[in-house]
Amino acid sequence: MPKIQWLHSLPQEQEWTMTENLSTQLEKYLPKPVLALTKIAGREASELGLVLYIVGGVVRDLFLGRANFDFDLVVEGDAISLARRLAKDSQAKLTTHPRFGTAKLNYPGFSLDLATARSETYSKPGALPIVKPGKLKNDLLRRDFSINAMALCLTPHRFGELIDPYNGKDDLDNKLIRILHPNSFIDDATRILRAIRYEQRLGFKIEADTEKLLRRDVAMLDTISGDRIRHELELILKEDKPELVLWRVGELNVLHQLHPSLKGNGWLSKKFEQARKADIRASLPTLYLCLFIYNLNDKQNEGFVSRLNFPKNPTQATRHTLQLKVQLHKLANPQLKPSDLYQSLHGYTTTAIQANSLASESPIASQHLQLYLTKLRYTKTLLSGEDLKRMGIPAGPQIGEILNALHKARLNGEIKTRKEEENFVRRQKQSG
Ligand code: ATP
Ligand code: MG
Repeated sequence: MPKIQWLHSLPQEQEWTMTENLSTQLEKYLPKPVLALTKIAGREASELGLVLYIVGGVVRDLFLGRANFDFDLVVEGDAISLARRLAKDSQAKLTTHPRFGTAKLNYPGFSLDLATARSETYSKPGALPIVKPGKLKNDLLRRDFSINAMALCLTPHRFGELIDPYNGKDDLDNKLIRILHPNSFIDDATRILRAIRYEQRLGFKIEADTEKLLRRDVAMLDTISGDRIRHELELILKEDKPELVLWRVGELNVLHQLHPSLKGNGWLSKKFEQARKADIRASLPTLYLCLFIYNLNDKQNEGFVSRLNFPKNPTQATRHTLQLKVQLHKLANPQLKPSDLYQSLHGYTTTAIQANSLASESPIASQHLQLYLTKLRYTKTLLSGEDLKRMGIPAGPQIGEILNALHKARLNGEIKTRKEEENFVRRQKQSG
C-alpha cells in the first residue's frame, strides 16, 4: 500500500478556505437563461432556509472552459420540495424520484438535476451504496475524483463561492486524476474505467498513488454487474477518441478483466480513426464495439456480451460481424457479380458490414462491401407483384420467381428502365 496522506476524515468546515469565487466564470460561460435560473434557484432555496450548490462535472468544466450543460444541483435539505417550488414558478416539467430524494426539471433545451446532499456507505465491494441525507461535505466525499468533487454555492450573497475540500482545483491545474480515499476503487470499481476515461479525455495523468491502487484493485471489476460495466464502456465509446481510452485500459491491465482476449492496440486506433472518417449511417459507438470485438472468436464474444449483458441489437451486430468475418475470403473474388454480393450480404446488419469493410485486409472485399452498402442494398425493382398480375402473370410462386430474376438483372445492370423491366417480364412469361 503506498504511503500517502489520505483524507480519512473530512476537513473541518473552517479549513475549507474559500480560495476562489467563480461568479465571473458563471456569468461568462453559462447561457443567459441558465444563469438566470441558477440565481433564482439559489434565492428560492435561501428563502426556504436551504443552501444550494452546483456540483460535479460542470464545476470542473467551468474551470477548463469546456461546455457542459449537464447541471447537477445539490441542496442540503429536501431537493424535491425545492424542485416543486421552482417548477411552480417556471415553465419547467418536473420529474421526481422520492426514493432517491432527486428531481429533474426539464426546461426547453436543457435540464437541471436536483439532489438532496447525501452520504453513502458500501455494505460490500461493488454493492450499491446505502444512502442517507447528509451535508455537502459528505456528498463530495462519496464522489469519484477530486476534480469532480468541487461545488459552487448558489446562495445570493455567496454566489459562485468555490467549495473544494479535496483540492480538486490544484489537481486540475496539475492535470491529475486522484481518488479521494484508498478504498475508492474497492467500493466502486467502475471508477477504474471512469479514471481512465477522464485521463484520456482531458489529456491528464492518473496520479501516481491512485495508479498504484488502480492496479492493485483491477480484479474488483469482477464485483460489478454487467449492466454497470457496459454503461461505462458505452460512455467510453461515446468519447471523441475512445481508442485512447481503450489503449490505456489495455496498458493498465484492465482490459483482460473485461475479457482476456480483448486488445486495445494500434490496430484498433487505426480502425477507429477510419470509422470516424467513413460516411456511416449506422451508430458510431456500435461500429466501434464491433471493431473492438473483431479479434474474438464466436465463443469468446458470447462470453463478453453475456458478461456485459448487452441488449439485443448490439449483440446481434457483434455476432453478425464475426459471422461475416469468416466469410470475407469469399468476397475477395474480383469475379463476383453484384447479384452474388447481394445474395451473400443481405440479412447482415449494416454495422457488421461496415465493421468488416474497415477491418478487411483485402481491398477487393472492402470495395465489394462498400458497393453493397452504398448501392446494392437500395436497389429495388420498379415493378411490383401487382404490376406482374396486371401483366397477366397468375398469382402464385411464379410472381416471386420473376421478381427475383428481375431484381438480379437490375443489380447486375442488365436492365435499367421500367420499359426494360416490362420486356423482361414478357420474355419470362413466354418462356414460362
Ligand atoms: P461527464 O462530462 O462525463 O458527464 P460528469 O462529471 O458530469 O462528467 P457524470 O457521470 O455525469 O460525470 O456524473 C456526475 C457526477 O457524479 C460526477 O462529477 C461525480 O462527482 C459523480 N459520480 C458519477 N459516477 C460516480 C461514481 N461511480 N463514483 C463516485 N462519484 C460518481
Ligand atoms: Mg455528466
